[in-house]
Amino acid sequence: MSRVVVAGGAGFLGSHLCDRLLERGDEVVCVDDYSTGRPENIAHLNGRAGFESIEADVSQAVPVQGPVDAVCHLASPASPPAYLRRPMETLAAGSEGTRRLLELADAHGARFVLASTSEVYGDPEVHPQVEGYRGNVDPVGPRSVYDEAKRFAEAMTMASHRSRGTDVAIARIFNTYGPRLAPGDGRVVSNFVVQALSGRPLTVYGDGSQTRSLCFVADEVGGLCSLLDAGMTGPVNIGNPDERTVLELAHRVLELTGSTSALAFGPLPVHDPVRRCPDISLARRELGWEPSTPLDAGLAATVEYFARIVADGGNGSGAGGAGGSGG
Ligand code: UDP
Repeated sequence: MSRVVVAGGAGFLGSHLCDRLLERGDEVVCVDDYSTGRPENIAHLNGRAGFESIEADVSQAVPVQGPVDAVCHLASPASPPAYLRRPMETLAAGSEGTRRLLELADAHGARFVLASTSEVYGDPEVHPQVEGYRGNVDPVGPRSVYDEAKRFAEAMTMASHRSRGTDVAIARIFNTYGPRLAPGDGRVVSNFVVQALSGRPLTVYGDGSQTRSLCFVADEVGGLCSLLDAGMTGPVNIGNPDERTVLELAHRVLELTGSTSALAFGPLPVHDPVRRCPDISLARRELGWEPSTPLDAGLAATVEYFARIVADGGNGSGAGGAGGSGG
């Protein structure tokens, strides 16, 4: 049994990680500033033995007391509209937040796992993306607040490992979806599912020919736990190589929801990557991990989750629209 600090533990991915760690008998300290994380994501854990939550912005302070065996840094806005609304905070979470969480890990001799991103590959010229590919990013483009923050976080993680011997691991997370995405989050799956369920047009950016490879959240969390337990440093891609066009995804969502919503084509966000697909050979080989949830099964679980929210009137309308990173 370990005591694991999950920074960003009230977020979409972080809250599922908290669940999984508790299920397997670890203790969890969730740290979140609720800027994009949501209290309802961890409401079911409050009062549970072994679970503690602290409200704090990790770029300002990490007020964790007691023993720490591992630190997982998932604290950052992750959807393009969310990080574009909070550019300075996103950069601070990746830089100052990473520094503070590495120091916490160091103070306890704990393992540190960084949630990095496929965005470090930018608009990739190598396909599928292998970890050795150095990426095609624009350091002054609008998305740089996220991808440069994560690239800096990776650099600092490796610097701490090399200069101070911190036990670190870097996961490059590809598009992940599932229950607990916020309805107004702005990411493609939550937008399409909520739009389909509420009879609104599905907002396809560009012509929908760009691709993404979507990983169901339960699989993603399994990969993160494998990395947490392994001796590996990485970086390692943790994602699902099942590559689809955005248009194909829109049609899958329409079919699974039985919705008659139209498609509404809008402007493609600036520097929206044309193709994205992880090469997960390294994760398969070193972690013995690979995703197992087919897209339709994961989407069905996601639709079920959002159907309850839409029925309660929380359809996220007005948020996560095309405007975020569009133009
Ligand atoms: N997208 C879309 N409609 C939406 C939201 C997103 O067509 O309502 C597209 C977006 O332009 C991108 C892909 O879906 O090509 C994935 O976008 P998301 O914001 O989920 O994540 P990203 O991979 O861009 O970080």
